[in-house]
Amino acid sequence: MALVVKKFGGSSVATPEKMMNVAQRILAEKALDDKIVVVVSAMGDTTDNLIKLSNAMTDSPSLREMDMLLTTGEQVSIALLAMAFQKLSVSSISLTGPQAGINTSSAYSKAKILSINTNRIQQELDKGNIVVVAGFQGINTASDVTTLGRGGSDTTAVALAGALKADVCEIFTDVDGVYSADPRVVKTARKMQEVTYYEMLEMARLGAGVMQPRSVEMGQQYGVPIHVRSTFTQDKGTIIREEYTMEEKEFIIRGVTHDTNVAKVVVLGVPDQPGIAYKIFSALADNNIDVDMIVQSVRNNATDIIDILFTVSLSELNQCRSIVEATAKEMGALNVVIDETLAKVSVVGAGMLGSPGIAATMFGALSKANINIGVISTSEISISCLVDQAEVKNAVNAIHHAFFKEEE
Ligand code: ADP
Ligand code: ASP
Ligand code: MG
Repeated sequence: MALVVKKFGGSSVATPEKMMNVAQRILAEKALDDKIVVVVSAMGDTTDNLIKLSNAMTDSPSLREMDMLLTTGEQVSIALLAMAFQKLSVSSISLTGPQAGINTSSAYSKAKILSINTNRIQQELDKGNIVVVAGFQGINTASDVTTLGRGGSDTTAVALAGALKADVCEIFTDVDGVYSADPRVVKTARKMQEVTYYEMLEMARLGAGVMQPRSVEMGQQYGVPIHVRSTFTQDKGTIIREEYTMEEKEFIIRGVTHDTNVAKVVVLGVPDQPGIAYKIFSALADNNIDVDMIVQSVRNNATDIIDILFTVSLSELNQCRSIVEATAKEMGALNVVIDETLAKVSVVGAGMLGSPGIAATMFGALSKANINIGVISTSEISISCLVDQAEVKNAVNAIHHAFFKEEE
């Protein structure tokens, strides 16, 4: 007997027919005594459409009401999938995140799962039900529904797999695994047989939207192997795990990622005094806004001023803008300039730790493609550059070609 958590993303359940195919596939793969928990996302573009609907009402809805709205998408999916099982004469039950015992922090729109009370799920599994759980949602201590950030159904699935000590967590999606770059952007991207949590987490953070970063973190924390595979074919996909078991460990660079959900904020002419960076970034932290690249310019000795530059997600820019403008005014900065026309391209690989020349190869590829680099930042296992958004596809392809050309 195995206990398996299977997650199906929005495009996998976009229509009633696709939903029925998902139910049939689950049954076809299920051994008689297997226990199955299915996590589903909202159908197709439902979440985006709900966001548009909210904009028709106000352009600054409260995050609490947004969560109330967006959680309805997943609720539709669980009810319909349970009905598909009914049609196939299989006992199943749908549970919302709160009913499934998923307790989260209070941060609406990007809540974190704090604990899972699995009693209800266990009872339903013991009764022989296939348990269908709404992804992307939970409940906070105020008894309000919360959402886990875009792509959060991945995190629901991996967290449930950890809490239930499942044998595996399968993420079914519209690609057949994790690739060395987004296969929709780089035609020659190669499918990975396996990738470590460490490298996948960095790729996910830097834009590889196939997995929500938090879900990879959870997988690592609970030691849950994650199998990313296609809803539409039977092929084996990519296993995300702690260590490599095959020759793939030889790769210096694992992937090239890109992220267009980026805004650059520059605070110009800040007095060069102790506590200035603290003022800006603590104001953002107090409002739960994540800051990514940070660069401080060299002091201008004639004027005693510096510039501070950082990036945030485009989706949090409006909130960020008002906070930074107020803080800049308070400390007498000259101006705040915002750029929404950029994108971030990155290379990721644990092998770069002992391999000089990775940055040179990346910058060389961009130079050859005549693409200008804005800001550069690095971590232990990645290098990122800001480029013009219009150039992002060329940039990813040029960099991918430079690192993977012998396989193309
Ligand atoms: P789902 O709705 O199933 O959660 P997503 O759209 O969130 O699906 O994630 C799948 C998409 O992730 C793919 O269609 C692909 O375009 C994108 N993607 C980005 N980077 C990668 C990558 N490195 N490997 C595979 N897919 C990627
Ligand atoms: N429906 C949510 C989204 O579109 C969650 C998910 O799909 O994982 O982001
Ligand atoms: Mg997703």
